[in-house]
Order: sequence, then C-alpha cells, then structure tokens
Amino acid sequence: MDHLFAPPLDPEGVGPAAVAPYALRKVEASLLARGIEDVVVVDPQNLSRVVGPDTKVLGLTAHDPLGLSPVSTKLTMLFGGGPCWNAVYFEELGQQIRALRRRHRFAVIAGGPGIWQMSYERPPWVDLVYMGEAERDFPRLVQEALRGAFLPPVVQGRPPTLEEIPPIVHPSRMGEVQITRGCPRGCEFCSITPERYRTVPWSQIEQEIRVNQRAGEFNVELITDDVLLYGAQKLRTQHKAVVGLFENLKAAGARQIGFAHISAPAVRESPETVRQMGDIAGWPQSRGMTPVVGLETGSVRIFKKYMPAKAYPFKPLEWPQTILEATEILNDAGIDPCYTMTIGFPDETDEDVQQTIALVQDLIDRGLRAFLFPLPVIPISTSRIRGNPMPQLERLPLKYWDLLGVCWHYDMRMARALLPSLVGRMKSSLARQTIALFVERLTEHVDRVFEEFRQTHGRSADRYRSINLAGAWGTLRSLGWLLWGIVNGRPGGSPAGPRYLTAPTS
Ligand code: SF4
Repeated sequence: MDHLFAPPLDPEGVGPAAVAPYALRKVEASLLARGIEDVVVVDPQNLSRVVGPDTKVLGLTAHDPLGLSPVSTKLTMLFGGGPCWNAVYFEELGQQIRALRRRHRFAVIAGGPGIWQMSYERPPWVDLVYMGEAERDFPRLVQEALRGAFLPPVVQGRPPTLEEIPPIVHPSRMGEVQITRGCPRGCEFCSITPERYRTVPWSQIEQEIRVNQRAGEFNVELITDDVLLYGAQKLRTQHKAVVGLFENLKAAGARQIGFAHISAPAVRESPETVRQMGDIAGWPQSRGMTPVVGLETGSVRIFKKYMPAKAYPFKPLEWPQTILEATEILNDAGIDPCYTMTIGFPDETDEDVQQTIALVQDLIDRGLRAFLFPLPVIPISTSRIRGNPMPQLERLPLKYWDLLGVCWHYDMRMARALLPSLVGRMKSSLARQTIALFVERLTEHVDRVFEEFRQTHGRSADRYRSINLAGAWGTLRSLGWLLWGIVNGRPGGSPAGPRYLTAPTS
C-alpha cells in the first residue's frame, strides 16, 4: 500500500513538503497572515525529523480519518477486508504522534475535511478538534496554544469574509486553486450546507496560480462545489463571469484545466456556458474530464424531502429530465460526469430506489456517457441528518442491489470503452495488448462480482468480509481470489450474470 498508493512525496526530504493539499496551504497562509511565521508543512513520513523540543503546536489535516466517508463505508460494507486503509494510516499516524509526545511537549490540533468523524469520538492524543473554516478562528487558537493556554476539546470555526482569506504562499497539490467556497443549495445530507457561499475574485485566483507556476505546475485544478456557481447571483449562472474566468485562466498560462464539481440544474440552465468552457479548455479533444456530480435519486418524493433547492431554477418534479438533459450537454462539452447517488434514507422504500433505477436505465438507453456510483447516505455530524443511524447492509432497501448491479455493469462498460484512449499512448504494442487484455478481464470479473451481489441481495459480501486486507496473508489471499476469478470467469464458484445493458456510444 505504501509503495503503490501512498509513496512519500519526497523520500529524501527532511523538511517542508514541496506541495500540499490546498486546504492545508490555506491554513498555513492564515497563520502567516496573523504573524505566526515559524510554520512548516510536512508530510507524515517526515514528521519525526521535523518535530523537536521547540515544537509547540502540531496541526494535522484529515480527509477520512476513521474510514467513514461514503465511498469508504460503501466499500467496507461490501468487501470488508478488515479496517479501512484510511483508518489504518490514521492510526499509524496517531502512534507516531503519541511517541513524539512522550519526548516533547506540544499541543495537537486536528482539522480538515473529514474532521467531523472525530467529533463523534476524539482520540485521546488530540487536544482540540477544529471544525469548519480556518481563517477567522484557527490562528487565534494557535496563539493561545503557543502561550500554553487551555484549549477547548472542540471548536466550530466561524466562516470568514473574502477579505479575511489570504492567498496561499506555497504550492498546492496538482495546481489546486479555489474559485468558490460554500454552496447555497442546502441539501440536508451535505456537510457543505452550513458554509456561507463566496466567489473568489480573479486577482486572488491569479496570485495563487502564479505561486504554483513558480514551482513548475502549469495545470490548474479548480476547487469549487459547483464551477457554475462562479460569480452566480441568487443561484443563477452568470455566463460572462464563468466564460471570463476560463479565458483568464488560459491567458494566465494554464495548460490543462480541471474542476471538481458541477451541478446538473446549472448545466441545464446554461448549455452555452458549458460548451464554451469545454472549447476553451479543450475537453472534447483531451477527454478524461470526469467531475463528481450529484444525481442523488430518481425519486421525486425523496428529492423534495431532503434536497428541494437542488433542482433550482427548475422544479423538483423535473429532476429526472434535468439529469438527462444535463448529461447530454456535458457529454457534448467533452465531460463524462461521475454521478454519485445518496441511497438509504431511513424512510426510503424499494419504490423510491426503483425510480432511481428507471432514471439510470433511461440514461444508459440513451447512450449517454457517465460513471454511476450509488453511495450510502452518511449522517455527517455537520449535516442536518446527523441524527440518522450509520448505514448497514441489512437496512438497505432490497432494490439497492439491483441499482448497484445496473450501475457497476455500466461503469465497467464505460471503463472498457475508455481503454483504447488510455493505452493508446503506450509505445510498446506488447505492453498495450497485455494491459488491454488484463483490464478487459478485470472489468469483466468485477462485473460478475456485482452481478453476484445483485442475485444474492448482498449476501455474497459475507465471503469478502472474511479477508483481512491489513496484512500480508489477507492481501495475498484476496489477490489469489481475484486472479482465480479472472482466469476462471466466475467469482467464488457462482455462475456469471446475464448481459442486459447496452454499451456507451464511444
Ligand atoms: S448541491 Fe451539492 S454541495 Fe450544494 S448543498 Fe447540495 S450536495 Fe452540498
């Protein structure tokens, strides 16, 4: 895992990280702006080389410390495999910090996008769990910790105004630059909802792009909850503001432009804006633009109850039509959305899930390109549904398994359809053919595993849960099963599932 998925950024490094997650760079900038200058950002591998007797405060950012994010929860529910690797890594980091604390006296403050998980259970080696945005309150708490003052166990940071947000001063990972913060749509299950919505002015965006360019990064990854919210007024897309932003990015020397999120109603409202964004960025030629977009549900009843403003400026009743039209517009602009779905609200019925299946099937039958991920709804502690129970396999509607089967079958077809453009750049034809064959067989095998989930209503997951992946024996055993399935063409001895869906058009 260390070598494949989490190699050190700078194995020989003994000090500051060359690049860091954007949010961490913002925290660093907010400390510097308040006169706390002896700040260093390091990756976890270098922690013990940097922490010493002069260290007064150790801050850490966590994305998914206990493995409770929707994707981690879904995969551990289905495949078990022992504790989620995110949680294993966080536990290892905790051991390292505990060992350092035995030698030196410093306060530990934890924050970051996944910090809500620690609001349920604060590890004893963390003095302060800091929730929310950093700029207004975090530097003050660090100043108090530097004076040796008592720190409260949990603090909710107040949202800063635009003037209180300083630009980053050191490079972010992958050229990340924030263009909007917060989202006004107010979905009940979302942790973004409490944040105030703001558009970052171009002067600050340009300043941050220059920081990254000076470090050799000319690609730009836009951080936003909806790229079409840039400059929006009352949730209405401002065509000139968005297209102007993309023109400015190109004029500033951005090579590839990516973004994390876009919303289907804003796409449907402004197809011309999306088309021009694609033309400026060159997505129809480059392909591979796959932002995460919330499809959430095909059930208008669930939609109205948990996310009524999400469809604006259209009506909740039009949600399925909004998704279909938006996908067509996105595809024309060279964008293949990764649609996520929130499944498993306590009052969600098989009829609700059947309506989601119908929407997904409609999208497939029209030959539209999209990746489809039904995820369990998580009661994030900063969302309005925080009182809900954590999802469990046994409590999911039975139709969930049909939805999962339909979606993964199509995802595997999409992956195979993208294969020629992925391996086409490889020089050796032998390597090209070998990788193409392996990916082909692998996707067919994954397809069969999900078909087996569908047929058994998830009971086949018990078999995978018996493997502990957090160790050499479990890893070898799971690889053996995978290879066995690929070679023999069936998972764990069950028959291969039927083929019942059409392929994407290209
Ligand atoms: S539209 Fe997306 S980001 Fe905005 S509140 Fe809803 S789920 Fe959250």
